[in-house]
Amino acid sequence: MSSLEQYKAKRDFGKTPEPEAVKSKRRKKPVFVIQQHGASRLHYDFRLEIGGTLASWAVPKGPSTDPSEKRLAMRTEDHPLEYAGFEGVIPKGQYGAGAVIIWDKGTYRNLTRAEEEGRAGMGRSLKEGRIEIWLNGKKIKGGYYLIRTGNPKDRRWLLIKADDGEADARRNPVSTQSRSVKSQKTLEEIKREHEQNA
Ligand code: MN
Repeated sequence: MSSLEQYKAKRDFGKTPEPEAVKSKRRKKPVFVIQQHGASRLHYDFRLEIGGTLASWAVPKGPSTDPSEKRLAMRTEDHPLEYAGFEGVIPKGQYGAGAVIIWDKGTYRNLTRAEEEGRAGMGRSLKEGRIEIWLNGKKIKGGYYLIRTGNPKDRRWLLIKADDGEADARRNPVSTQSRSVKSQKTLEEIKREHEQNA
């Protein structure tokens, strides 16, 4: 079974503007995206390109730049690569109904197996429940850890900023940099526009 079966099963592509899962080419450098999602509970979807799809986590508080702040990250179903470009409103009644903006986007490097295995190593890091990456986004930069807290079936992970030159406890980009890196709009603005056009 493809890892995108769950993604497809949850959605009606006649009704939601989200991308239908199609096979797409890998890029040279793997991408990451952080989408702010105003669903029934506001959260940030953290997605990493691994093995041709986007491995995904829902982070209720979003990423921190402070290494002492561990952020809960719940593993969710894989999403197609095209989803990294999705911004818009998922209609009422559909799975995950609410507005989505591309809060940050960029490329990343695997720090655990940076040299010896290249990108294939990410699949192994994911399986092992311990990921160490360098993010190169517009807002978020530097080393981050994603650590699974329990056994392999446990959906709970922690997203933690590595203590490096990009760490800065005074900076809190989730509250100070709220606009989309794609449209420069806020989640509220995307929502309002959608309601006006409805
Ligand atoms: Mn979400």
